[in-house]
Amino acid sequence: MISNTVSIDIQKVGNSRVNEIDFENLPFGREFSDHMFVMDYADGKWGTPKIIPFGNIQIHPATSALHYGQSIFEGMKAYRNKENEAFLFRPDMNIKRMNISCQRMCMPEIPEEIFMEALKTLVSIDKQWIPDTEGGSLYIRPFMFATDEYVGIKPSDNYRFMIFTCPVGGYYSTPVKVKLERHYTRAARGGVGQAKTAGNYAASLYPAKLAQQQGYHQLLWTDGLSHEYIEESGTMNVCFMINGKLITPSEDSDTILKGITKRSVIEIAKSWGVEVEERPVKVAEVIDAIENGSLTEMFGAGTAATIAHIEILGVEGRDYVLPAIEGREFSNKVNDYLTNLKKGKIEDPFNWNIKL
Ligand SMILES: *Cc1c(COP(=O)(O)O)cnc(C)c1O
Repeated sequence: MISNTVSIDIQKVGNSRVNEIDFENLPFGREFSDHMFVMDYADGKWGTPKIIPFGNIQIHPATSALHYGQSIFEGMKAYRNKENEAFLFRPDMNIKRMNISCQRMCMPEIPEEIFMEALKTLVSIDKQWIPDTEGGSLYIRPFMFATDEYVGIKPSDNYRFMIFTCPVGGYYSTPVKVKLERHYTRAARGGVGQAKTAGNYAASLYPAKLAQQQGYHQLLWTDGLSHEYIEESGTMNVCFMINGKLITPSEDSDTILKGITKRSVIEIAKSWGVEVEERPVKVAEVIDAIENGSLTEMFGAGTAATIAHIEILGVEGRDYVLPAIEGREFSNKVNDYLTNLKKGKIEDPFNWNIKL
């Protein structure tokens, strides 16, 4: 298949596995579509882009990424409506963010037009894998890792860039309980918090496990320096509705992952005339606002869940119960709006959807 600028080698499966899938009962991230995209970097340049049948890959035991962590990823979704039209939501933003992760981790950037063509072609080929169920979507996982077969710490000379996709159902169906974390740190100033790099998630597992043992779903991270400012939660950015204003931690420090969902929520809020404040958010301010009733909503924003209502905030052993979910006007409305927009059910005044 030849596109205008990018030509991808395509080898299709003989028999699709799509009919073996129970689309009504999809676990998250455990079913994989028929095809995957692969492109290798060597001798200072990217090789031929390929789409091949999904399957295992062989790697050398000294593969650099396994030892020293030059490994990054992205996460995004494709949707399909009843008319069998498929859409990608703001893929340009994921492409740009992946390249920001590349820079920080000393990895070669991916030419934007190749990346975009790879996404469009892969998802088009596996279009029947996009669930058309309520809440269902095709989760897309681009990732890149260092492939030098070498024991020693230096930027690798060789890399592999891949994309696979997973049909998924709805994510957090229930509201979440989060625990404010004031001991462990997700990201420090000058660190790699703004990169979607593997080690960030490995580092969060232990503190998250402790929180889960205490009955919480996720952590609410604070800054690594004073632990007085709220940063984000798990793989979601966090937003508050206080006194009718949408308030969210600013991304000026390089410790918060710049989420596309949160950016979209902010742009929608502004278009609705909701006042938005992006600024440092103190833990003390949030607790005050809960206690005096001015905090009416708190939610996480991320690709996996879109909007995840937060119902309980645990702070040093005390659980603050937040306002009832049904009464949360803004986050319910923005969740419906974004969900419908991504599925192509309503007009797209922002031109965010790319139709395949
Ligand atoms: C991916 C991610 C987010 C959410 O980003 P989206 O683009 O909205 O999916 C937020 N925080 C962290 C740490 C993440 O890895």
